[in-house]
Amino acid sequence: MDSTQTHIVIIGGVAAGATAAARARRIDENAHITIIERGPYVSFANCGLPYFISRDIPKRSSLILQTPEGFLARYNVEVLLKHEAVSIDRAGKTVSVQSPSGMKSIPYDKLILAQGGNPVIPRIPGADAEHVFKVWTIPDMDAIHRFIDEKKPETAVVVGGGFIGLEMAEAFHARGIHTTIVELTGHLMPIMDTEFGRQIQNAFEEGGIQVRTSCSVESILPQTKDILLSGGERIKADIVLLSVGVSPETKLAREAGLSIGGSGGILVDNHLRTSDPDIYAAGDMIETVQIVSGKKVRVPLAGPANRQGRIAASNALGMNMEYKGALGTSIVKVLSYTAGITGLSEQAAKKEGFDTGVAIVHRNNHASYYPGAESISLKIVYDRKSGRLLGCEAFGKAGVDKRIDVCATAIQGGLTVSDLSELDLAYAPPYSSANDPLNMAAFVAMNHMSGMSPVATAEEVREAIKAGDALILDVRTYGEYAKGHVAGSLHIPVDELRDRCGEVPAKKALFLCSKDGFEGHIALRILMQSGFSNVKNITGGYKSIELIGGYSIESDSGSF
Ligand code: FAD
Repeated sequence: MDSTQTHIVIIGGVAAGATAAARARRIDENAHITIIERGPYVSFANCGLPYFISRDIPKRSSLILQTPEGFLARYNVEVLLKHEAVSIDRAGKTVSVQSPSGMKSIPYDKLILAQGGNPVIPRIPGADAEHVFKVWTIPDMDAIHRFIDEKKPETAVVVGGGFIGLEMAEAFHARGIHTTIVELTGHLMPIMDTEFGRQIQNAFEEGGIQVRTSCSVESILPQTKDILLSGGERIKADIVLLSVGVSPETKLAREAGLSIGGSGGILVDNHLRTSDPDIYAAGDMIETVQIVSGKKVRVPLAGPANRQGRIAASNALGMNMEYKGALGTSIVKVLSYTAGITGLSEQAAKKEGFDTGVAIVHRNNHASYYPGAESISLKIVYDRKSGRLLGCEAFGKAGVDKRIDVCATAIQGGLTVSDLSELDLAYAPPYSSANDPLNMAAFVAMNHMSGMSPVATAEEVREAIKAGDALILDVRTYGEYAKGHVAGSLHIPVDELRDRCGEVPAKKALFLCSKDGFEGHIALRILMQSGFSNVKNITGGYKSIELIGGYSIESDSGSF
């Protein structure tokens, strides 16, 4: 290295670190760039690990995106594998590294920390047993693979119902292992709202994967291969996967005296500079801004990590790029379904103090008359005062990703539900409807905001019924009503309502229940224009009532 070169040292060589190295080289052909990576691989696809275990990805080598030789040839970057950075001397600008051949001191002009995080291992008896695994690295994946091949487990328990837990449950299931997911909160994918967690659960249960919610694992009993749950239930598990969260890797930074943010991640400014101007940080280890709430949070996802790595390298080499934060957009495959979220869920928006409005539609992903249409559940979350879009959740077999991505773009661009209603999205019958489900959800929100068609959520209606003085007017067909309806509801099909308005009590708060919310809007307009004012449409209709639960349901075959 000569003295005219800027020496960029990057600690951590996967998503943020590898991106930072490649970007640094593209900016400065003369820089001396070193990646220090404690693991045996650089730039591997951790997001692909569950899909190799499931055998969807047949070749292990496709998960290894770069090698030290490849990095050197393409980018002239020195990659030091099995090297662990153990301390930073900020005054002397060196990093002490434990290498296979002993301690080394590596000098830097600019240091980029890209150390990621570590899976949280819950403190439960048996968590260290040999049939208990985590999935974070290629060696973790290899160990699971070997165990399945050699021990041929018949039963599995996945502890944690976040996206990695769901992917691993599906992977075990694909390997013919009878799998149960155990989730502490009331529903799977806790970052999503209840009705989406329930749809995910229903899809798994239909597909043969068991789910236990609102319970924790008390202990893992290695002798009997039993898992003891908080409610006293015992489940057999020949293999156990722990996936209960990720904690940022901050030891090195703490010991070097760098500031840590309130969320536990490394504190960086909007140029991804730490409290030391010569040290940048990116990826799972940092604290960033949630774009909608403006709050400092951690967003341990691959997209933000890659973009942050790019920006950190640019700024370390004298550019002036700003990182504005992340939405936390996430998507997960659920057997033949997909679930996705961007921005804030309803529960998160309420917690952040927004005057939260929601609109839920259950529509087809494309024109119903074109073969192969699949139902998609879509919920938009917005601020009732300004109409600003705050979040979106979706679940279905097809078209979830594009609705989530459109909403992510809309939210980041600061669009309102009115803007969303006018979005000119691609349409031909095989792809969408002339009014895309997103346009439809925005219409619902706008009709609510203008007072033309006020909505209530299935949760709000359940509470109003409990409090008394509220009546559900069910406007579905006779057949739909007979199959199941909320106990005590009044039934008048929408097509008979004009003639039977006289049967509707005028003094009660009325909530209109239709199949998915659409006919409820028609019925509401009939009633409002006939003089009824205390009336709301249940957004998402009976489908949302079923998903939210907690109602007393009657049918021709009994009550439940
Ligand atoms: P990492 O990729 O974790 O890399 C950090 C590296 O730093 C590690 O290799 C570590 O060995 C090294 N390191 C740490 N400390 C030191 C040290 N002192 N010295 C040397 N090296 C050190 N995200 C998505 O957005 N979508 C997905 O579908 C998705 N699926 C995932 C599935 C799995 C199974 C996993 C584990 C993660 C998944 N993620 C997904 C999350 C995503 O992989 C991470 O957000 C991303 O990898 C973070 O990148 P990073 O560079 O910050 O950290």
